[in-house]
Amino acid sequence: MNTDGTHSTGDGRDRRPRVVIVGAGFGGLHAARTLADYPVDVLILNRTNYHGFWPLLYQVATAGLEPESIAYPVRAIVRRHPNVDFRLTEVTGIDFQRRRVLTAGEAIPYDGLILAAGSTTNYFGNQDLEVHTFGMKDMDEAEALRNQALLRFEEAVGTADARRRRALMTFVIVGGGPTGVELAGAFAELFSHVLRRDYPSLDVADARVVVVEAGDTVLATFPPKLRDSAAKRLAKLGVEVRLHTAVDRVDGQQVVFRDGSRLEAGTVIWAAGVKAAELADHLGLPQARAGRVPVTPELHLPDRPEVFVIGDMAYLEGPDGKGYPMVAQVAMQQGVQAAKNLMASWSGTPMKPFSYFDKGNMATIGRRAAVFDAFGVQATGLIAWLGWLFIHLIYLVGFRNRMLVLLNWAYNYFTYDRGVRIISSTRNPHVAQAACAPGEERQSRVG
Ligand SMILES: Cc1cc2nc3c(=O)[nH]c(=O)nc-3n(C[C@H](O)[C@H](O)[C@H](O)COP(=O)(O)OP(=O)(O)OC[C@H]3O[C@@H](n4cnc5c(N)ncnc54)[C@H](O)[C@@H]3O)c2cc1C
Repeated sequence: MNTDGTHSTGDGRDRRPRVVIVGAGFGGLHAARTLADYPVDVLILNRTNYHGFWPLLYQVATAGLEPESIAYPVRAIVRRHPNVDFRLTEVTGIDFQRRRVLTAGEAIPYDGLILAAGSTTNYFGNQDLEVHTFGMKDMDEAEALRNQALLRFEEAVGTADARRRRALMTFVIVGGGPTGVELAGAFAELFSHVLRRDYPSLDVADARVVVVEAGDTVLATFPPKLRDSAAKRLAKLGVEVRLHTAVDRVDGQQVVFRDGSRLEAGTVIWAAGVKAAELADHLGLPQARAGRVPVTPELHLPDRPEVFVIGDMAYLEGPDGKGYPMVAQVAMQQGVQAAKNLMASWSGTPMKPFSYFDKGNMATIGRRAAVFDAFGVQATGLIAWLGWLFIHLIYLVGFRNRMLVLLNWAYNYFTYDRGVRIISSTRNPHVAQAACAPGEERQSRVG
């Protein structure tokens, strides 16, 4: 780096340094916005052309929101910043020696690199789980789950055998964390408020939502009072919670638990683990728990001060000795800090260690119910729910998306309806021909 902030290219010309950011998620976008104020060229690489607002993904899966309302085009974000550009591409690896980002096409050179590729579902190497359960990590998975839920009800209508019908209408959610709990509440309400009216010939009492949790509580990261409140709320919605229950295997027709018991289920959702994005496995770097990449307190690789890793992909222990949680606030704050530290190193000033400002935790459990734990305040019920709505609207990117989401929420709230009950594809990525033994024919139900 030259004293005027440019980089020498080797052919006598000077150019502004280029920072490449992999991932247009919470971390990557915050890094890009911070770098927009510096004399550098920024290139964001992402495998989709949108930024996804994952905290509302479960509402896409449960027919409450259109996918478009929680996705925002990256180009619409970067066009506000003349020094930030975007390219749609899948990153396959990094050549750290030659400072190149490897993609299916060209190798893209960088002077500084910020890796923010997020995370993916962790099936712990179990192929059956991968094939026979639904994940909840991206838009395709959420849409596939919505299609699946609606298809299961369509199949149930045409099924005369009561046992099979019940199995088709049984939804097992493995994992009692925020994603599992929010999904469970939303599914229970979808079935009892909406699908009950859509399928008058079905007895919705047959529809079951079962949350399976290996630990001794749902929402383990919340204070005990809020966990209890969430458990009561789930029970009120008719959700069955099975604690101390570990899944042994899933075969597309049933879930088999470690204690030997079985549950026939048409749909199994795996919300019991996340790990760093697959890219982390292709970097040739050491990996910590859940495949995350260990970084220094300043967020860069130990021997490479020009390469930062942030968000879900990065592993850094906080003052409590535990890895920072895989949540949006950590990614956003690390994005800002990594960008500032990269600029500091280029200007010869010391980098600062990452320090996390915890803004709290929240989860919603159906309409007018949530748990909220922030700034020493713990709240449940309506107040927590309103806080949840407000905060999610604020963080959602784009005025149009906020309006769409608000409109959908108001519509759902006042009509008890869900507008997005569309089966957009009957081809499901999963085998999941559950509850129907091979070769068995479905019979039409009369009346
Ligand atoms: C269903 C769900 C609900 C959640 N709810 C909450 C919540 O309520 N509150 C909360 O704080 N957190 C929540 N989280 C977690 C939160 O979304 C993540 O912690 C956060 O998104 C991490 O930010 P990130 O920048 O590391 O990754 P992401 O925001 O996931 O962004 C990663 C980006 O990298 C892209 N990418 C991945 N691999 C490649 C590649 N090889 N090449 C190119 N691009 C690539 C992806 O397409 C994505 O755009 C939730 C997550 C999920 C899945």
